[in-house]
Order: sequence, then C-alpha cells, then structure tokens
Amino acid sequence: MLFANIPGLQETKDLLIRSVTNNHVAHAQLFHGLDGSANLAMALAFATYLNCEDKQETDACGKCSSCLKIKKLAHPDVTYIFPTAGGKKVLSENFMKEWREFVAEKPFGGLSDWLNFVEIKQGNIPVEEARQLIQNLSLKSYEGGYKIVIIWQAENLHTATANALLKILEEPPEQTLFLLVCSSMDRLLTTIISRAQRVAIRNFNQDEVIKYLMKKGLDNEERAAQIAFLSDGDMNKAEELMEQKIQNEQEWFANWMRYCYAFDVSKLIPLADEFDTFTKETQKGLFEYGLRILRELFLYTQSAEQLVRIEGEELVFVQKFSKVFNIGNLEHIIGLISEAHFHIERNVRAKIAFLDTSLSISRLIR
Ligand SMILES: [Zn+2]
Repeated sequence: MLFANIPGLQETKDLLIRSVTNNHVAHAQLFHGLDGSANLAMALAFATYLNCEDKQETDACGKCSSCLKIKKLAHPDVTYIFPTAGGKKVLSENFMKEWREFVAEKPFGGLSDWLNFVEIKQGNIPVEEARQLIQNLSLKSYEGGYKIVIIWQAENLHTATANALLKILEEPPEQTLFLLVCSSMDRLLTTIISRAQRVAIRNFNQDEVIKYLMKKGLDNEERAAQIAFLSDGDMNKAEELMEQKIQNEQEWFANWMRYCYAFDVSKLIPLADEFDTFTKETQKGLFEYGLRILRELFLYTQSAEQLVRIEGEELVFVQKFSKVFNIGNLEHIIGLISEAHFHIERNVRAKIAFLDTSLSISRLIR
C-alpha cells in the first residue's frame, strides 16, 4: 500500500511524512477512524514509507525490495496482529494467507467483513499473541530497518493481551514501532490510548469517493455521486454498492411486492435508494423479472394452473399473491412496471420512477 493508493487525505499523509523527515516518529501510534475509513490503509502506507530504501518526497518508491515485500504483506520485519478464533493457540500468523487476500480485496474492510471472510463468528486477540510477539521482538530486525507491529482492531485486544503489551508499548526495543489501528476508540482500553500518539483518520469526503470509484472503473459519474451520498464516507460500503449485483431477483421482487402490499413507506424509501445505486441494466433486469412473474400470476388467477411454468419459491410467491392480485389490478400493475421500464430506458431518475411505481402499486392492491 502506498500513500498514492489512498484517495485524498493529503493532510494526514503530509503529517506522517513530516514526522519521518523531522525524525519525530512516535514509537506507538494509534490510527483511529470509522469503519470504511483509511485507518488500516494509512498504517500500511506509513509502514511502507518508513522502511522504503528510496523514499520520495511524497511517497515510498514502491519499487525497492522492502516496498515490494510490504506490498505482499510478506516483509519479515512487519508483524500483523488481528482478531482470530479457535482457541488461545490460534495466532494471527496462522491466518496470514487469508489476511493477505482480505487486505488486497477489501483494503477498507471492517471487522465483520473479516469475520465473514474467514468464516468465524467472533474474533479476539488472545494473550498468547502478546507473549509470542514479545518474544519475536527480542530478536534483531532482519533487514536493518524498523521492526513494525500493526495491530488491527486494537479494540478487540483481550484485556489480558492488552495488559501484557503495556510495558513493551511504553518501552519498545530499539527501532521498533507499534501502529495500532482501531475503529471504535470508546472500546479501546484507556491504558492503551494513553501510551500511543493519535493519528485521526477522517472519513472520506464525497469528492474522494467519487474519484476513487471512477478510478476503479465506474464510468457513470452520476451513479458514482449517488453511491458516494449513500455510503457517507464509508469507502468499503461504496465499493460494495458499486459491485452490487442482485443475488436473488426473486427475493428482491417478492420483498418489493410485500412492502407495496403493506404500504410500508419506511421500507419502500430505502429500497428506492438501493434501487437507485444499481446499474441501468440491473434496474431493467429487475423490472423484466417482475413482469415475467406477474404474467405467470395472471395465468394462475385465470385458473390456468397447468400453464404456469414456474416452480419452487416462485410458485409459492405466485400462490400467495394470487389472493392479493386480481385480473383488474394485475393488468394495471403490469402496465405500471412496463412504463417504469420505459422511463428508465429514457434516463428518468431511477429512484423517482421506482417510488412512483411503488406507491401506485400500493394503491391498486390495497
Ligand atoms: Zn521503496
């Protein structure tokens, strides 16, 4: 990770670089920022910069052997500690393969993303981890640069682990740096906070999110702006929204109809926001799917059960909703969705088209 890979946040990058130039690098630093911020990314970029063999004015070189090793999260002098599970003997080093994949895939990911990634329910940092670390730090650095320990999700340090680390945090061996990364400061032990210099990582702003998404290949600036608005500075969420594909059209459509039937505006508005972030193709695809199901429903209500070509969940949906829909309103609803499909094709704002259609359907089926 280089500073250049992190969108914006120039003020933080300058501050960190200045600390190196002025020879004022604190030996324990706390990178705190909310979920979806660059708290981990910034610590990684700083670690890269610190050990770079050819530091540039505004970034690490990205080419020297140290930079390349840190990029792969395989530098022998950089240790990573993060929540794991499976008993006190399970240490972060046993999860390095997954950790490397995770950081490459979700550099702004949070704890729940990580736990999902490794398929564990609850993670913690056991005291065994501290013992092992203290032992490793007593050895000399392999490559002559800083020995760096990155503790991700420091708020999940077990109390015993945190206590075991207090002394070494206060007086680390020579050329050793601790970069603690946390997303909720209020859960971090005050004894840890008081031993570290804070580096506040603010949320990304609207502009930074838009630029990043466009750089990642999103070619629609309007959609990028919608996603930036919805994700509210959480870059991980923004990336997820950008890549969002409908896993299950049936479920999505069934929920939509349920909310319409219940006239549940508190559900319909967020659904419209979500709909707004989909690509035009996905939006049209959902409407096309709905039209297909409603045509089956039409046949079903005509007692043409033998003509219905669907099965499973879709059939259950049709059977259930056959009580709500009748020939009269079905024709209207099919007309409304076809019209919305047409409007989206013509670039009418998707959120408005979706909400209008939802409210009209609600009125028809009540
Ligand atoms: Zn370098």
